[in-house]
Amino acid sequence: MKIPKLTGTLSNKIKTQIKINDITIGRDFLVIAGPCSVESEEQILSAAKAVKAAGANMLRGGAYKPRSSPYSFQGLGRYGLEYLKKAGQAVDLPIITEVIDTRDVYLVSEYADVLQIGARNMQNFSLLVEVGKTKKPVLLKRGLYATIEEWLNCAEYILKEGNPNVILCERGIRTIETYTRNTLDLSAVAAVKRMTHLPVIVDPSHATGRVELIGDMSLSSIMAGCDGLEIEVHPCPGKALSDAEQQLDPEQFKKLMRRINLTRELRNLLEDNEICPE
Ligand code: PEP
Ligand code: MN
Repeated sequence: MKIPKLTGTLSNKIKTQIKINDITIGRDFLVIAGPCSVESEEQILSAAKAVKAAGANMLRGGAYKPRSSPYSFQGLGRYGLEYLKKAGQAVDLPIITEVIDTRDVYLVSEYADVLQIGARNMQNFSLLVEVGKTKKPVLLKRGLYATIEEWLNCAEYILKEGNPNVILCERGIRTIETYTRNTLDLSAVAAVKRMTHLPVIVDPSHATGRVELIGDMSLSSIMAGCDGLEIEVHPCPGKALSDAEQQLDPEQFKKLMRRINLTRELRNLLEDNEICPE
């Protein structure tokens, strides 16, 4: 396979680090948490307080939702951005939200610290060019059916426009398996970490679609060498307007954060002793 030049390690032997307020992505472990969608001012503030208290270092929430059905909740749009921004400020966390349309890139950039390109838009080349023209950090999710090569070429579109601040996110791919929503491709995480200089994070929520699998997949992702996690957390998952079956409640997230921290200590120990990666 051909690794595109700017994304591959040839152009940059130093690992990319992206500084946002107090955190440096690629050096510090990133934990993005928050609801699938911003549903109201109260809901996102309550989620923000919970994830901050548990130790997350970035708040997520979708304002523009790419839904499979046009009849499903589409997000609050500009109001969602406002509520997310206010909630982030209230708990002193940077925010990430998805942009799904080239026409919204400017507006979303005014609010978000990180722009998310969703799996369904991974190969929306005009959107990639548009976010590449901004200097905002971009989280690029792997497409539902994308090979590693296709994914890295999409990162290349952003880098080529002059935006070096790209984070890759493995969020599961479609396979013959139907028990899980997608199949988490952990080998892709370890592979892409070796092939590129970009930070790589994992979204175990969309990868599994099942609350009970999110914890173990988070820990496995850490051992695969990821630089962070993106986890859906909702104050009351049963009432969520999107992805109700894969969002942790605040108590579950708090417990998971303890397991995440312990697993990171183990991974760090292996790295410090040069046992891992080989
Ligand atoms: C999301 O993170 O809100 C989302 C829609 O995820 P994905 O693009 O990976 O399906
Ligand atoms: Mn979701």
